[in-house]
Amino acid sequence: MLPALALRTLRSADKRCIAKFVWNFGVKGMLSVERFKRRLKRGETFPPFLYLSIINSCNLRCQGCWVDVEEKDAIDLDSLNRTINDAQAHGNSFFGILGGEPFMHPQLLDLLAAHPDCYFQVFTNGQFITEKVAKRLREIGNATPLISIEGREVVSDERRGKKDVLNKTLRGLDNCIKEGILTGVATSVCQTNIDELLTEEWLQHLIKRGVHYAWYHTYRPVGPKMNMALALRPDQLVRVRRFVTEMRARLPIAIIDAYYDGEGQALCPMSTGVSHHIGPKGDIEPCPIIQFATETIHDQRGIYETMRDSAFLKDFRELSAEHTRGCVVLERPDLVKQLVVKHGARDTTVRGTAMAELDAMTPRFSQWLPGEEIPEKHWMYRLAKKYWFSDFGAYQKAHHSQTAAAKTKQLIAAGRG
Ligand code: SF4
Repeated sequence: MLPALALRTLRSADKRCIAKFVWNFGVKGMLSVERFKRRLKRGETFPPFLYLSIINSCNLRCQGCWVDVEEKDAIDLDSLNRTINDAQAHGNSFFGILGGEPFMHPQLLDLLAAHPDCYFQVFTNGQFITEKVAKRLREIGNATPLISIEGREVVSDERRGKKDVLNKTLRGLDNCIKEGILTGVATSVCQTNIDELLTEEWLQHLIKRGVHYAWYHTYRPVGPKMNMALALRPDQLVRVRRFVTEMRARLPIAIIDAYYDGEGQALCPMSTGVSHHIGPKGDIEPCPIIQFATETIHDQRGIYETMRDSAFLKDFRELSAEHTRGCVVLERPDLVKQLVVKHGARDTTVRGTAMAELDAMTPRFSQWLPGEEIPEKHWMYRLAKKYWFSDFGAYQKAHHSQTAAAKTKQLIAAGRG
């Protein structure tokens, strides 16, 4: 798989874009995780990977979206630059850029250009990536668009609440490929697209189109319109995991995931401290779907000290790790509420209904399905996860008490009725 993937990438991608990826993301990314591990040893947590939702506006209306897409909140360029510079001063080089739709932020390209020695993954629907924008992205060279596709024509329109969604998205995708930009495709796997997109045929289609990597998220029923009917069953979550480990060992396309270590044990990136999230108004949140905060990036101390010293984030990591290796929001919304009340945390949404949404949730399973672990099949993923994407001892340190875990399983079973 690896020689074919490397050859395909060298033949199709712009050499400078490849060099920026290898150095800014590959080498400096590994070094940032090593610094993270050294910090953990001295009892400090500051994530090597920050995810910034730079705007909440979006042109689409996806089922189950938890973002206030009708609104127009955006983080100003100065605040973004200050936050990235401070994180960089502590060894970070990789940043995830989310929204809403990030390409609706008028200063996104200026942000990327302002940090040539960093690397950015931009989560986008691709519809604003014109030939001109794609050309500029190649010139800047330090960003990879991760373009979300939620189904073929019919399902895409249904999932994203607009017309002709897939064609408009594929136009943006092709503009990136034509410019030789390292480009990925993401799917939030759910009941309506699992049979269409969780297939070798779909991955072969992406390879033929020139796509370099894929990311299969699983649909999370949260937010103002949870749409439970779309959520996957436990056997389907295992099917996704098995498919990913098999395809990434065989096909010349890289496949990312963020919820399993090399042995296939479930983990939560928030609980391990490897990533935290910044909302479109600058709020510092445990992760994108926990829309509560006690601190912001506008704090004079800067992002490093503010996050390192946050009792709210520390409590979230530890309590979540104590009760589950999976998603505390899905499995234990009661614990999320408990922490929000304990810390007097603000609802960071414009709609102001985040607490009511938590109250409406019933404990359900997530990626943590004990006994269903599927280890990586390919040595490269095993190696990368062993050193740079494990649980970093979060669950051992939290004495992942069997009683707490058992209680979580009971509540999930009860929730399933
Ligand atoms: S709490 Fe859930 S959604 Fe948030 S990072 Fe953990 S697993 Fe992901």
